[in-house]
Amino acid sequence: MRPDLHLHTAASDGVLTAFEIAREVQRADVTLFSVTDHDTLSALPAASDAAYERGLAFIPGVEISTEGEENIHILGYGVRVGDEKLSAFLRDGAQRREDRSRRIVRRLADAGMPLDWDAIQETTTGSVGRLHIARALANAGYVSSTAEAFEKYLNRGRLAHVPRDTAPASQAISLLRSCGAVPVLAHPGQIRWPRERLLPMLRAWMDAGLMGLEVYHPANRNDYSNWDHLARQSGLLVTGGSDFHDFAGSHGLIGETAAEWPRASEDGWALFQACRR
Ligand SMILES: [Zn+2]
Ligand SMILES: [Zn+2]
Repeated sequence: MRPDLHLHTAASDGVLTAFEIAREVQRADVTLFSVTDHDTLSALPAASDAAYERGLAFIPGVEISTEGEENIHILGYGVRVGDEKLSAFLRDGAQRREDRSRRIVRRLADAGMPLDWDAIQETTTGSVGRLHIARALANAGYVSSTAEAFEKYLNRGRLAHVPRDTAPASQAISLLRSCGAVPVLAHPGQIRWPRERLLPMLRAWMDAGLMGLEVYHPANRNDYSNWDHLARQSGLLVTGGSDFHDFAGSHGLIGETAAEWPRASEDGWALFQACRR
């Protein structure tokens, strides 16, 4: 098995449809994939159909943004599309994301960089997030890349930064567990806390029901062996994925982390099994 368990479609802030993602997954020789859009399950039925047609193994997923500015994201695997409780939670998260994005766009306009909100909204079937705004800034010529948009205007401390308003991570974790899904801490390398702070939090999230750690993500690239060791030692599932959004290099490319993941096949299978239980 060659897994890529972290992929975004245009239902959130990716650029490909679910069918196009399945095509690119196959092209990259990935055999097990998961679509993990931010705060929405809307691409999952089409992704599941496309996986079936291509003979690929598929795990329905989601990525939930939680508290604070440290990019604490919780991946949920094995989610059910019709789950009312999860859907209500995600709708609330999507609404908060959209409110934040509207405030960011207002701040940019006040600073002399007006953007067309309706045109931004047309680039997604889901809620508008910061990456959509970054692309609009680049398209309008205010910056030369999405990375520059974040560095100059959108990151904390910059003029169009608006703090997140999101649920605590432990709440997202226990909600996912109560829906029968497998909660995994995404890209721990993006959480810029010292180990003395991170390890007790990890313990608290495990008490809330956390079952895995996304070790093989591009953000962890300089430290794979430490994250891998920590996950296995803690009895957590080891997962990985490219976090693919687009071909412009905003995140990883499909399949790239599978190549760096020594036990990819057995870890992918373990997650697949955990979702079936
Ligand atoms: Zn994330
Ligand atoms: Zn992601």
